[in-house]
Amino acid sequence: MEQITVNLNNRQSLVVVGECLDNLQKYFKGRSAYIITDRNLDGYYRKRFPDCPVYVVEPGEKSKTLEVVGDICRWLLEQGADRGSFITGIGGGVVCDLTGFVAATYMRGVKFGFVATSLLAMVDAAIGGKNGVNLDGYKNIIGTFTQPEFVICDVDMLLSLPENEFINGMAEVIKHTLIKDNKGFAHIEQYNDRILARDRNEMVSLVSHSARIKAGIVEMDELEHGERRKLNLGHTWGHALEKVTGLPHGESVAIGIAFSANLSVKKGLMKEEERKRLLGLLRGYGLPAENPSVPSDVLNALIKDKKREGGSIHFILMRGIGDTVIEPIDVNELEKFALDGV
Ligand code: NAD
Ligand code: ZN
Repeated sequence: MEQITVNLNNRQSLVVVGECLDNLQKYFKGRSAYIITDRNLDGYYRKRFPDCPVYVVEPGEKSKTLEVVGDICRWLLEQGADRGSFITGIGGGVVCDLTGFVAATYMRGVKFGFVATSLLAMVDAAIGGKNGVNLDGYKNIIGTFTQPEFVICDVDMLLSLPENEFINGMAEVIKHTLIKDNKGFAHIEQYNDRILARDRNEMVSLVSHSARIKAGIVEMDELEHGERRKLNLGHTWGHALEKVTGLPHGESVAIGIAFSANLSVKKGLMKEEERKRLLGLLRGYGLPAENPSVPSDVLNALIKDKKREGGSIHFILMRGIGDTVIEPIDVNELEKFALDGV
């Protein structure tokens, strides 16, 4: 078992990798607990949930709405939940975002924790205290920064995760190594087979390594004024692409990472051999690295995107594998590069 403590001003959040769902009850510390989960997790694991009230949402992004938040809060009221209650989300990023937001706002805030069940939630969504819901098609537009008390990562639960969802999570794992972990990159390059087989020891080490990188960045910059922006590597282009094409998040991020690598080489920051190595690794995990869409559509989506600041957009570029830098890119330069160079 690996433990990571996320230290933030006067609060701490504990990430426990390799812990078992069966031990969840002890983290409630005698408080009256309520569980939020989705229908898939409920189907696979309900028998192993602690004995307490459970609210089940539909799986997927469509549950991240204020309507669902309202339904859950109404249910909590009916159940008699108060400020001393404890809420736990058992699920992927959707359940974690929803649970975190409900817990941060119900009666002005109750304590909460997560059992993160998807690879993406274990290494990314459950860590860092961001939570929120979508509004009218705008992602994560309403939310708070509130840290969970604990994040349990039971890596055995990854065995029921569908293959495409596992690969989605790998895009974020790869992203974390690119930001600041050259050795970690070499490891996932070398042990591709074991990782794709979801070997237990490999999963404990992969998840704890990746979660530690995210936790370290969040500790430096909880409210995303600087360093935390590096976590957007591949996401500026990736989000625009996801919006235009409807490609899965992980695939869009992989293409976004490749786009950043291309731009980094073009600007003389990254060596061509490193870019090739990176594209090879993405493909080795079944992730795409080429742009399938008409770049002008993606560009239009991007220029309208909230990340636009004045005449430039902040891009996360790479000086090499494990070494990232935040660079404002002029919109005109970006347009020229995207249309000629992808
Ligand atoms: P998800 O929660 O929809 O899970 C993906 C699918 O896998 C769902 O159908 C779910 O039921 C299923 N699933 C999850 N764990 C399973 C398991 N162990 N066995 C079987 N099936 C399982 O999506 P996700 O990819 O985990 O998360 C995406 C969400 O996370 C997005 O809404 C995104 O905005 C959010 N996110 C938040 C942050 C943050 O910092 N708060 C960071 C990244 C992503
Ligand atoms: Zn992402």
